[in-house]
Amino acid sequence: MTMIKDIERECSVCGEKSMQPTLMSTNSWGYPDLDLRPPEMQRSTMHVWIQECPNCGYVAGRLTDELEIPKDFLKSDEYLNCKGNDFKSDLSKRFYKLHMIARESGNVEKAFYGLRNCIWECDDVQDELAIEMRKRAVELASELIERNTEDKEIFILMKADFLRRSGQFDRLVEEYENITLDDENSDRVLRYQIEKAKEQDDECYTTEEIFSR
Ligand SMILES: [Zn+2]
Repeated sequence: MTMIKDIERECSVCGEKSMQPTLMSTNSWGYPDLDLRPPEMQRSTMHVWIQECPNCGYVAGRLTDELEIPKDFLKSDEYLNCKGNDFKSDLSKRFYKLHMIARESGNVEKAFYGLRNCIWECDDVQDELAIEMRKRAVELASELIERNTEDKEIFILMKADFLRRSGQFDRLVEEYENITLDDENSDRVLRYQIEKAKEQDDECYTTEEIFSR
């Protein structure tokens, strides 16, 4: 089960102390989605993956984490209004702000995961911005894939799902039809994505569809 506890955190930017929900434990049971979003109960713990200072508006995984860019950025219009993206939920806004800070700091991986979490929250509240955000996440994933790190195939799987779920079926088929992933299970997921893309299917699926066949 999920255990969440309020813990006092001191903001590294302004020094304000606030109580922040902190995840003590959780579990997941079942199959992740094709973009690797975990099943319940972990699925529903996103609100504790990020903290926001009530005084200066800084967002971070932990408010005690240092901000690596000038703090004036937190007062900029683009930060305050999420570059004009009118998200339905405050949690989407938080993740988007984390994404913006990471981009500004030059941390592409953190920027990618911030945006991915923003997308998942958009899905949960039926926010149509999820499609536009998936298109942007595709570009960040491409940058990460080019780096050829050990997580490369993970980024390919997430990119494939973002492409399909933002309706970029042809691009998905073109880029990945003739590519075989080293990890056998990952390759099965990719083959399934291509199958679905050819059917122009942009629905959400879990890996249960593949591995319980
Ligand atoms: Zn603060």
